[in-house]
Amino acid sequence: MFDTKNMKITNWILLALGTIGFVIDVSAQYDYGLTPINTREAYEASLIDNPNARLKDLAQEIEGIQLDIKYSTSENFTGKVIYREPRAFLRQEAASALAAVQKQLKKKGYGLKIFDAYRPYSVTIIFYELYLDTAYVASPYTGSRHNRGAAVDLTLFDLKTGVELDMGTPFDEFTEQSSPLLQDLPEEIMKNRTLLRSVMEKNGFSIYPTEWWHFDFKGWEEYDILDVPFDQLD
Ligand SMILES: [Zn+2]
Repeated sequence: MFDTKNMKITNWILLALGTIGFVIDVSAQYDYGLTPINTREAYEASLIDNPNARLKDLAQEIEGIQLDIKYSTSENFTGKVIYREPRAFLRQEAASALAAVQKQLKKKGYGLKIFDAYRPYSVTIIFYELYLDTAYVASPYTGSRHNRGAAVDLTLFDLKTGVELDMGTPFDEFTEQSSPLLQDLPEEIMKNRTLLRSVMEKNGFSIYPTEWWHFDFKGWEEYDILDVPFDQLD
């Protein structure tokens, strides 16, 4: 039997539990002091003042681009499937710049192959908690430039054969050999790395000093950190 007084108490208990549940839920999700945009609604709202910041699907935006999204397979440094779908997104301006890169490369007989682009913030937390070293994985206290949709990991392939060019190391090899600052590499590798770097730099990207495959787009700091899954972006 319920009387009014008991119902009031029950409501108060439910309200209190709900509030505690909400607080626990939010703090458990993000332990590192950042609160990224993590709903489709908030992401759409963030685009109202800056419609050019919309994330674009690279497979749709850039003709002839190859995707080899390593984190959608277990063939990556974590040994786990991280993404449900093999997709790649960048902010509109960065995607347009990458389309220009692809056009310029085509004249030389090469194309772009993407390993990773926009990466939801939760994935940066997973990487950090598995690796616990920020030399090669981003700190969850600052987030990654990938979380802002303004960084891309990529290489070149030969348009005739479809074969990846030799860059000296595979993607995500976390050793000194991956540094684009190295100069004493075989001629072929130096030539390939220089071609990738020069065409990317001409179009507004800058290379990361420890990873030949990683490029940041100019103005990356202007974009918000996001934790919106790929399937919420369409
Ligand atoms: Zn990267």
